[in-house]
Amino acid sequence: MRKNNIKFTCLVIVALSVSAVELGCEREQKSAPKKQQKKKEEKNKYSETKMLMGTVVQMDVCLDQAGMSEIKSAYEDAWKRLKDVSERMSLSGSLSDITKLNHSAREAVSVEEDTYYVLKRSIDFSRSTKGAFDVTVWPLMNLWRKSERNNVVPEKLLIRRVQFAVGFENIQLLGNHRVRLLNQWSKMDLGAIAKGYAVDEAARVFRQHGIERFFIDAGGDVYAGGRNCSGETWQIGIRDPQDGSKIIDIVKVEHQAIATSGDYEQYYEIQGQKWSHIINPVTGYPQKGVISASVIAPTALEADALATTLCVLGGVSGTEHIDALTDEPRASLIITKLPSGDIKRYESAGYKEYKHTE
Ligand code: AMP
Ligand code: MG
Repeated sequence: MRKNNIKFTCLVIVALSVSAVELGCEREQKSAPKKQQKKKEEKNKYSETKMLMGTVVQMDVCLDQAGMSEIKSAYEDAWKRLKDVSERMSLSGSLSDITKLNHSAREAVSVEEDTYYVLKRSIDFSRSTKGAFDVTVWPLMNLWRKSERNNVVPEKLLIRRVQFAVGFENIQLLGNHRVRLLNQWSKMDLGAIAKGYAVDEAARVFRQHGIERFFIDAGGDVYAGGRNCSGETWQIGIRDPQDGSKIIDIVKVEHQAIATSGDYEQYYEIQGQKWSHIINPVTGYPQKGVISASVIAPTALEADALATTLCVLGGVSGTEHIDALTDEPRASLIITKLPSGDIKRYESAGYKEYKHTE
């Protein structure tokens, strides 16, 4: 599978974390107060960046909230938390609960509370999306990965056979944080949700240290705590899936998360054709049509899981799904590309409230 290299990931970060003030040189030239505001924001901001979870993670904190030693200690704890979550939920390594489960041969396995929680939430998402989101998709991922290696599109019959091992019903949550995979061929991949959870956990750590205004970007999974460092709502650019150097929209969020999924960064290439890395568990085929799906939600875990789900559901059903979630404010923007090459935008009912229009 083609994976985004660091340069490419950086592009996402620029696109997703750029504030409107930073974005537009044009706007700056027109408006002196904006320039001053930017300077004020930069002066008041502290930032650290590391490579984690296969991506570049950047965390910004506004300096006027705590002493430097408190801020440094918050960063230390937040990085540690991100590393722990990443190790527990990754697809490899001796510390990974997922590796243990994937090799458990139907034996119950004790996992960390974190992993248990993320699995529980994953099952809830699978139920509410009728299986469009399913962390047991790994056998299909593996099939498509192998097919890329052999440069042959897998036969329908083979896809059907592999699909027998896919199904969230195979995950049994037992007491005392024990988990059993009921089908010995079932294997899990938390790639669509774990990064979001890790971002939420880093946000929780900052708050524990009394820091309310911060910005965390883990390669497209973003959480914006409070207001930005000049006291305004954080403004986040959504990258144009057709041209990575451009931004299609700017959204304003406060105490909220935004995540974007799409087929432009990671894909399988077979006989010159690109296939998305997001697979529809119901058909066994990679999703087609959605080139970008962004979700604004109260938590990064939810935004992450839903952005992946919307790629499977498509423009119409995906937007309906978000519109039906009325308990808390959420919004989505789905961009599709028709076989004719035509691009279509689908905005959820609440999206315009977040969209920056100036
Ligand atoms: P994201 O970048 O958050 O959209 O996650 C994409 C990753 O999620 C893929 O690389 C797979 O590891 C995994 N995945 C693919 N299809 C699905 C699906 N239908 N449900 C849950 N996870 C998926
Ligand atoms: Mg996701």
